[in-house]
Amino acid sequence: MSFNFTVEAECQHTDARVGVFQTPHGVVHTPRFMPVGTLANVKTVTPAQLQDCQAEMVLANTYHLHLQPGEDIVAAAGGLHKFMNWQGPILTDSGGFQVFSLSEIRSISEEGVLFRSPRDGDMINLTPEKSMAIQNQLGADVIMAFDECAPYPATYEEIKLAGERTTRWLERCIKAHDRADVQALFGIVQGGVYLDLRQKSARELIQFDLPGYAIGGVSVGEPPELIEKIVKAITPLLPPQKPRYLMGVGTYKEMAQAVAAGMDLFDCVIPTRLARHSVALVRGERWNLKNQKFKRDFTPLDAECPCYACQNFSRAYLSHLVRSQEILGYTLLSIHNITELIRFTQKMRQAIIDGDFATKFAHYLS
Ligand SMILES: [Zn+2]
Repeated sequence: MSFNFTVEAECQHTDARVGVFQTPHGVVHTPRFMPVGTLANVKTVTPAQLQDCQAEMVLANTYHLHLQPGEDIVAAAGGLHKFMNWQGPILTDSGGFQVFSLSEIRSISEEGVLFRSPRDGDMINLTPEKSMAIQNQLGADVIMAFDECAPYPATYEEIKLAGERTTRWLERCIKAHDRADVQALFGIVQGGVYLDLRQKSARELIQFDLPGYAIGGVSVGEPPELIEKIVKAITPLLPPQKPRYLMGVGTYKEMAQAVAAGMDLFDCVIPTRLARHSVALVRGERWNLKNQKFKRDFTPLDAECPCYACQNFSRAYLSHLVRSQEILGYTLLSIHNITELIRFTQKMRQAIIDGDFATKFAHYLS
């Protein structure tokens, strides 16, 4: 069997768990942070460097890859793994979130979403079937159902209709998905900030007995305490023997709270985006390397960090690079930030195994 998820340890005080998710391109040890490679590359970082960051599963975006270079070119190259030279597991999103957040939408109907391509102005019709066809061609190990992402804030009625449509679209996605042997289709729980709609969405989704489930539509502008509330209420409804993925969340506190609720996988553009703004994530804090105090600081960013940036360069050098807008500066900060968030999830994993997750991460959980 290509896909398998095994829970190997459970926390005695929270719902946190340690798992191993087997995919056709290798295993993902959960809890795990997944770096985002929107256009089939994690910005400024090579696959070899990414591997050194201990990355296991990497994300790519269906919407962006459909616009450029197009799924036919990726397929002709032999699929995403070959095209981007990442031999580990890959996950693609459905394009739904990007269509709803980035594009000029002409119409949303039962059929799908009609929008204008920001690249050439052409009209594109993205439907559940089309999203599946694109993702089948891209060839990621995990693919996501095409869902309707209601904006935040939205009315109860709007979210209710979007949730019901998402379930109908999931049925169409399952029918259209023709590579189930090598690609696991995850469903996405929607429902905005309304817990009863979230619960309804989760209950409908699990009827389909999918290989994995995600909570989507969070981290779209709502206060962080609402994310925690949703995750706490919904995670227990998802089947424990399947991987659970919290989409678009990658801050320390939110990941720790989600792990405590029983979530396994996380992704966020934060580590590379912050790096491009000269910011390093260091032990829970955000440091801007352009700050005066780093100019003559010849110590490593974080002496305890095993990453290439921390092992070989000083804060002063990193500060110099970002002040000079040298690409190497962004690469080194990206390497560090990705390593930092992956290590954070690895530390939670180890703590769950050791039985001290609830005490070691208590300050995030309160
Ligand atoms: Zn580092």
